[in-house]
Amino acid sequence: METTFKNKVALVTGGASGIGRATALAFAKKGAKVAVVDWKENDEMVDLIKELGSEAIFIKCNVSKTDDVKAMVAQTIAAFGRLDYAFNNAGIEGASAPTQDCSEENWDKTIGVNLKGVWLCMKYEIPEILKQGKGAIVNCASVAGLVGFAGLPAYVASKHGIVGLTKTTALECATQGIRVNVVCPGVIQTPMIDRLTGKTKEGIERFKGFEPIGRFGLPEEIANAVVWMCSDEASFVTGHVMAVDGGFTAQ
Ligand code: NAD
Repeated sequence: METTFKNKVALVTGGASGIGRATALAFAKKGAKVAVVDWKENDEMVDLIKELGSEAIFIKCNVSKTDDVKAMVAQTIAAFGRLDYAFNNAGIEGASAPTQDCSEENWDKTIGVNLKGVWLCMKYEIPEILKQGKGAIVNCASVAGLVGFAGLPAYVASKHGIVGLTKTTALECATQGIRVNVVCPGVIQTPMIDRLTGKTKEGIERFKGFEPIGRFGLPEEIANAVVWMCSDEASFVTGHVMAVDGGFTAQ
């Protein structure tokens, strides 16, 4: 069965960079029209929209703000007339500090973007996808949604929250034609990991040490999993927590 998303519309949040960018390209490669969402309009985004051509639009949106998310969905429908798939991927790592030193501001911001953002996106995406009678949502958590990570309490809590939220929404949508799954990436070579390693030799070696497979993953390796979970080839897959992590959580 060859997956095609011809005449379908996909929305990708956090599309200006890393995993989101690769997934926007992967959806387009399969024939989908793509709404690429980010709170940043950088050069990479301009290049991406040029590369995707007339079948893509950029939407500026902060996924933690209700009005922005409502407008994000409305702009997608205004441009393409429908919504079939969403990859709710926008996320931040937050500041690194142990639980007792984590500031309230850092907690609120990290939970606000990562967890509230995913909930808000689904809240406004689901009614539109329901109009098609069929569709799929993939949320982006992390291996930090499955195990603890010292020094990142808000990030870990937000990602565990996404896993539970995804399972719940999957149950709610199970008989309505929308499948809802969550991808848990391991260490993936993106600007986020560059910030966490500080691009130092020690930082890179430390993060490589988490990966039994002996290297960082590529954004395209997450995009492949997301596109598969949206495709008809995954028609019996919902509420699934998929680690794409080079063996990280097998340890
Ligand atoms: P990245 O920093 O390269 O890209 C994240 C994108 O999200 C950026 O373009 C950023 O502008 C956007 N964004 C952040 N907050 C936003 C907001 N409030 N509204 C709209 N856009 C916003 O990072 P990435 O590595 O590609 O991360 C993508 C997702 O994957 C994140 O949810 C991250 O937690 C998750 N993840 C990444 C890794 C990794 O190793 N890179 C591992 C596990 C999970």
